[in-house]
Amino acid sequence: MVTRINNQGVQIIMHPESELKSVQLELSSNCQAGCMECGRWKTWGDKQILNPNLKFGNEGNIKVDLIKSVFDREKLPVFNFIALDGNYGDSLIHPQSLEIMEYLFMTFGDQKSPFKKTDTSLQIEVNTNGGYHKPEYWYELGKLFKQHSILNKDYESSVVFGIDGIDNATHDKYRRNVVYDKVITNAEQFIKGGGRAEWKYLEFDHNVHQTDQAKEIAKKLGFNKFFVKRSRWVEAALREIVEKDSSATKIKGKKLGKKDNSAEYSRIPASKKEKFITQVKEQVAQFKDYYNESEISCYWRGRKRLQIEYDGTVWQCCHLSGIYGSGTGFKGNKWDKEKQNEYAYYVDTYGTEWNNLYKNSLNEILTHPYFSAIANSWNNKTTDTKEPRLKRCVEKCAFKGTRDKRERL
Ligand code: SF4
Ligand code: SF4
Repeated sequence: MVTRINNQGVQIIMHPESELKSVQLELSSNCQAGCMECGRWKTWGDKQILNPNLKFGNEGNIKVDLIKSVFDREKLPVFNFIALDGNYGDSLIHPQSLEIMEYLFMTFGDQKSPFKKTDTSLQIEVNTNGGYHKPEYWYELGKLFKQHSILNKDYESSVVFGIDGIDNATHDKYRRNVVYDKVITNAEQFIKGGGRAEWKYLEFDHNVHQTDQAKEIAKKLGFNKFFVKRSRWVEAALREIVEKDSSATKIKGKKLGKKDNSAEYSRIPASKKEKFITQVKEQVAQFKDYYNESEISCYWRGRKRLQIEYDGTVWQCCHLSGIYGSGTGFKGNKWDKEKQNEYAYYVDTYGTEWNNLYKNSLNEILTHPYFSAIANSWNNKTTDTKEPRLKRCVEKCAFKGTRDKRERL
């Protein structure tokens, strides 16, 4: 266990592998969709191109052997939650995703494993656009979820389908290349196989009028929960207020690949935007220097949780990997350069290989001094030359914004 005293006299403890409870895992950087805000894309002039810093295709799929060596009950005796989600891809598109799910549920999640030191069952939550694979795949997946539920007494594992409308045209406005009818067929098959499904609805100006109908459809089809996602508003509103970048809240029709270039979609629904921005403004106004004065409480460290990316890299959370990780560094992009500069101290000090599971064990990674440096940064300034505070930590873990509320159907 790494224990030390930081510059505020507070003891910092980075948990070892044996205490790790939860991971967000990205099985693949691949995805058939083209959502505008996704890190798999970069804007280059008027075009949207695949992020040149990422690996796709076979190289974008995590190796099954790596999953099996990391998710070993003997090494992770109290572990109980996996979120299959990430920054660049849709995990279940991995060609061996059924094999991986079976391993995680039936071998790693085996309730009777002699190495298991908790009564809590392994829970897996998958986030997906749901618009790929044949319906048979989703039926088989549903059966696997049901089998795990019965054998290992887990009643919470679920697949969360991101469905942002109730017809093909509306759904495709944000989730380009995802066909609403296909997602619904796949979700129905998953539910028929015995899986537990949730409906996540990203709300925009262009679909806010369909939210209530979507909830009704979810209920009729047998989804277990329905929820509206709004967490990105916090970040967009913060950028608009603190960095005075009003464009951050708008998506142009052209960028969405639409013929109508003049169309402009607001990321924050107009009906709620004014009230929400006022609320953020009031909170930010309490500070002279918001990024340096606000207190940070690391949501992921507190929950003994980590991010594992498709390339085998391990991060404290998905917010850091998505902003400072391998997906950044696009030449000619001002925003990417700013983010690289913010994170330069950590790359200069520790390099970029120490956190790769293809080169180091999980325990070696967890006991690396980087994690103490990040914890120290929460008490430092963004301008410090040693262990500087990261803006991302403020945006994600200082602001007490609204959280999603899931509603049982
Ligand atoms: S579905 Fe997810 S991974 Fe695919 S483009 Fe959209 S946000 Fe990115
Ligand atoms: S953004 Fe920073 S403070 Fe928040 S969970 Fe990630 S590492 Fe922790």
